[in-house]
Amino acid sequence: MKEALRKAELEGTAAPEPAALPAGEAGDVHAANASPPSLPQAWSRLLGVLRGALPREQFETWFRRATLAELREDVVLIAVQNTFARDWLASYYRDVIALAARETFGGDRRIEFVVSPELAAAARAQFSAADEEARAVSGTPAAPAPAPALEPPRDPPARALSPSSDVVLNQSYRFDNFVVGPCNRFAHAAAVGVSEAPGKAYNPFFLHGSVGLGKTHLLQSLCYALLERDPSTNILFLSCETFVNHFISALENGDLHKFRSKYRNVDVLVVDDIHILANKERTQEEFFHTFNALHSAGKQIVLSSDSPPKDIPTLQGRLVSRFKWGLVTEIETPCYETRMAILKRKSRERGSELPDEVARLLAERIDTNIRELEGSVTKILGYAALARAPVSPELAREALRELFTVRHGAPSLDDLMRELSAHFNVKPADLQSRRRTNAVAYPRQVGMYIARRITRMSLDEIGGFFGGRDHSTVLYAIQKIENLAREDAEFAAQIRQLEQRIRSGQG
Ligand code: ADP
Ligand code: MG
Repeated sequence: MKEALRKAELEGTAAPEPAALPAGEAGDVHAANASPPSLPQAWSRLLGVLRGALPREQFETWFRRATLAELREDVVLIAVQNTFARDWLASYYRDVIALAARETFGGDRRIEFVVSPELAAAARAQFSAADEEARAVSGTPAAPAPAPALEPPRDPPARALSPSSDVVLNQSYRFDNFVVGPCNRFAHAAAVGVSEAPGKAYNPFFLHGSVGLGKTHLLQSLCYALLERDPSTNILFLSCETFVNHFISALENGDLHKFRSKYRNVDVLVVDDIHILANKERTQEEFFHTFNALHSAGKQIVLSSDSPPKDIPTLQGRLVSRFKWGLVTEIETPCYETRMAILKRKSRERGSELPDEVARLLAERIDTNIRELEGSVTKILGYAALARAPVSPELAREALRELFTVRHGAPSLDDLMRELSAHFNVKPADLQSRRRTNAVAYPRQVGMYIARRITRMSLDEIGGFFGGRDHSTVLYAIQKIENLAREDAEFAAQIRQLEQRIRSGQG
């Protein structure tokens, strides 16, 4: 569902909302029961109260284009033009609207939002000048005419929602709920800096770190902060995969002109997981030109990746060097104190406070991935709720046991070492030694690669296990084996078989 929404947003179409209503056209079309106020009348009264309660810019940005879809005894249903507006209103304005509704209509009502396709079409028609041009050029028909609008905009409306139909932000990814510690302090500060001076502070801003450490969280926070400072900022936030897919379909449909005008007419381009460009020559080429066009126009580029630019396999040298023009910074794995703080924060967000003892238990056992830390909190709180028991260390252990049984069945390093040394005919002790002869180094690299795939160990942990090496050595090994496997199908098959044996050696 989320994917569908995201997709719809990215493609600039309104999310398919079964409950979507005809956009509240102006006039009396909606005159509900003939009795109390018609919807437009009710809406304009509610707007009057809201207008008085909110700063002008906020009011103009968020309410001018919405309409009242339904007014029931228990619910006020507001129609908006896209899921972004819906989510934003729901998280920031629901309470204000509820108060305003009480003042306007008396009584308490739930405030709900719905995306209206007609409003979406109107928004698109008004805002996407760039798209319009592209359409004109490519000869495709223009967007459906705007619905006989609510209230014709008096002055050019804030463009907050213009291509923000291309921004899908997760409500819970914001700077104010990002826990800062030594592992991410610099990355956080840099992201804040970029949000305060886009195109000026660091351009591009390149954030890297392994999975689950908060890259997407920081990138989305940055977008939020930008929009909060200036709702008219034209941001395009997307995963690299989406960029690749868009590019491929633009190629297929002969739509490159439109593709380019979309990507090159933004103030801020944020591409998450840019390492996906590895081995995609044509997309790299296209991204290179996108990058140049934006950068030379002083537009901000923000990228995230699971490795630093130079370690992204097959990334063209000229991209590597451009990615380093601005600021390259890493998010590292969180230290114990940060893990504790995150656990506390996440449990508080879920309406419960983990006792210290329980938090310590989790922080000690889950040390490489914040997403997993978060998952453990959810698990324990869920467990406590089901058991109707307070969160105690005993309960946590109980819940944790379940959490870790998955690992139990998983292959261990013992299995790995056994198979590895049999396959390559080297002693386990040698694999774990400092020796660097080829006869040992190569099997060791294979071991590191497989360890990364079958265990949940961090690069550092794997390095530590294989003779006290650091994470960059492990990363190098993994990439080397991946490259070999790509180039040599037979080698790839051997490695797969070896991995299979290790996995099944488990029985
Ligand atoms: P990545 O993109 O690096 O794989 P995410 O940004 O998706 O990681 O983060 C994974 C989860 O961990 C998210 O739910 C995110 O909110 C949470 N998270 C990561 N870092 C922090 C942090 N410093 N403070 C609070 N939550 C965090
Ligand atoms: Mg991510």
